[in-house]
Amino acid sequence: MSAGGKSILSPFRDRALVERVAREVRGASNGEACRIMHVCGTHEWAITHAGLREMLPEGVEVVAGPGCPVCVTPGGEIDAMADLACGGAAVTTFGDVVRVPGRKTSLAEAKADGGDVRVVYGMADAIRMARREPGKGFVHFSIGFETTAPMAAIEVGRGLPANMSVFSTHKLIPPAMEFLLRAGIEVDGFICPGHVSTIIGADAYRGLAEGYGKPMVVAGFEPLDVMLGVLEIVRQKRAGIATVSNMYGRAVSQRGNELAVEAMEMVFERADAEWRGIGRIPGSGLRLRREYAGSDAAVRFGIGEVPADGMPAGCGCGDVLLGRIRPEGCALFGRSCRPESPVGPCMVSLEGTCSIAYKYRDKMQ
Ligand code: SF4
Repeated sequence: MSAGGKSILSPFRDRALVERVAREVRGASNGEACRIMHVCGTHEWAITHAGLREMLPEGVEVVAGPGCPVCVTPGGEIDAMADLACGGAAVTTFGDVVRVPGRKTSLAEAKADGGDVRVVYGMADAIRMARREPGKGFVHFSIGFETTAPMAAIEVGRGLPANMSVFSTHKLIPPAMEFLLRAGIEVDGFICPGHVSTIIGADAYRGLAEGYGKPMVVAGFEPLDVMLGVLEIVRQKRAGIATVSNMYGRAVSQRGNELAVEAMEMVFERADAEWRGIGRIPGSGLRLRREYAGSDAAVRFGIGEVPADGMPAGCGCGDVLLGRIRPEGCALFGRSCRPESPVGPCMVSLEGTCSIAYKYRDKMQ
């Protein structure tokens, strides 16, 4: 990734270049307001870490939407996994999930109470554990958007050990974007998620751009990527255009990774899903197809649909996830809610808007 000691990404991180594009944003907006939403924890990290919001002209705003899969996982599902862990099964999941408060408890609390909760880097780790301990039941709590769902699909498709099943809470981003647009959320355009787009491709947003008249820009994660994405949306808005621009061509194709999508569609089917703090979004969830019922923890353990649930008392994560407030707008931010004592999920996950804002609070004005 380097040439002559310089990373090929160096221009994308060149602050002077980014500031030059920010000045172009100022010129292109011509004083007109433009509210842009992104739906990706890594974009939020890039924007906050590089201090991009502070470079934007007045009136041009980038807000974070529901781009953190852990943050939108219903508390009732966390409780169901905690019950299994305390009931004799080993529950495997990603480290980000363990401290997220459910309705009654968290997986960390279940572990402290003697429950068997194990952190893994991916389902392959969980499969290895299940093979090593054939006398124990394993449940993998499988979370993520289109980025992680294909790997889960491939593992399930290959066949899991008999003592293992999967609880899928995978979710899809375009239906969530459509839900927000239908609900009349005030945004002028979207920065589409980079990682998700590598799987589903830039064309996946065409219907949203044309159907709702909103510019959609697929952008990478370097500061220049994001600032160019902002400039493109501002330009489209000023020109009265609403189309999909793929500005992350070094990683995202128009059609995406068709093999990954095929694997996902072979194993999962779409279902309505609850997004914590937001509500039920039609066709936004992935559940295992009937052919894979033997691998489905929801079937094996009779886990029914969890009721819609909100956030812990006083927590503004619902508004943060909808871009209505920035974390500092929550009365608990940095007071009773900090990374070491999180109240809401957005302060737990590394992709959570509040945990990112807290970590880089010195960069914000
Ligand atoms: S600061 Fe804490 S309580 Fe407030 S919205 Fe963020 S995570 Fe929720």
